[in-house]
Amino acid sequence: AKDNGRNSYEFYSQLLSDKANKEEQLKLSLESAIENNDFCVVYQPIVSLKNKSVTKFEVLIRWNMHGKWVSPVDFIPTAEKFGLISKIGDLVLNLACTELCKLRKMGFSDIVFNVNRSIYEFSSGVNDISWLDTIKKYDLNPESICFELTESVLAPENDRCITLLNKLQSAGCTIALDDFGTGYSSLNYLRRFPIDTLKIDRGFISEMTKVEGDKVLVSAIISMAKALGISVVAEGVELKQEVDILVSLGCDYIQGYYFSKPLAPELLSQYLTDFEYG
Ligand code: C2E
Ligand code: CA
Ligand code: CA
Ligand code: CA
Repeated sequence: AKDNGRNSYEFYSQLLSDKANKEEQLKLSLESAIENNDFCVVYQPIVSLKNKSVTKFEVLIRWNMHGKWVSPVDFIPTAEKFGLISKIGDLVLNLACTELCKLRKMGFSDIVFNVNRSIYEFSSGVNDISWLDTIKKYDLNPESICFELTESVLAPENDRCITLLNKLQSAGCTIALDDFGTGYSSLNYLRRFPIDTLKIDRGFISEMTKVEGDKVLVSAIISMAKALGISVVAEGVELKQEVDILVSLGCDYIQGYYFSKPLAPELLSQYLTDFEYG
């Protein structure tokens, strides 16, 4: 039994160090990917139920690691942990601004791009952020950018965060709280941060048609948002049945495969031109 104990301890510590090694490896690969600009972005339409049209797109990062696509789910947490997330966020914002300028020139003047930024970026000791400068550098209106606040590692409470978010909001940007209901402190963020939009996580949406309790929750989230004057985006909508429920509950926007998967930038203008609701 003694031997067994020691063996399983050794096995466990081996697992831990393998995990640490893997993460260290990923960190190094990420650093060189940032250096070499090995990222691109795709754009997922967000449909306004009121306007029955596409009014926004979420900007989603893609990493091409030596010809192999790595999902953001597999590298964003590491980027947050090792302080690389700001650089990645800046990269994405620049790509989004470049694309938005193109759309503007083609006459799509009211489109908003939703850019994901990690709440963790605020806790790395920054007193200012260059996001507004970037938007102005492209001669874009701050109203055309919405920042989606994400958190995949628990971010410490931070007053600086509130100050910076207020600054973005006063300049005209909008702020969305991402993955509502799954984060570490969704309700607390809602209470403390200046939030314009709340995004209901896909988990609630996909269970809504199967579990009555989840439909009740989605309904309650939408009512709460309305009472607070916040708009609601439902994420990960795949089925007509889900759209129907969300319409009946008064949801404002829908994002998900039901309308479209994320699109390569060269497909955006055609998609906007061809879009028909229902
Ligand atoms: P998210 O912000 O919740 O983004 C939505 C994710 O759900 C995207 O996955 C999208 O492709 C996927 N999705 C959208 N509609 C559907 C649907 O109908 N069904 C299903 N099954 N999935 C759907 P993706 O692109 O793999 O991104 C995963 C996560 O990585 C994002 O989740 C976000 O948290 C993070 N992420 C992506 N890009 C960035 C970025 O530029 N910066 C930061 N900080 N995080 C990012
Ligand atoms: Ca998001
Ligand atoms: Ca989300
Ligand atoms: Ca999500």
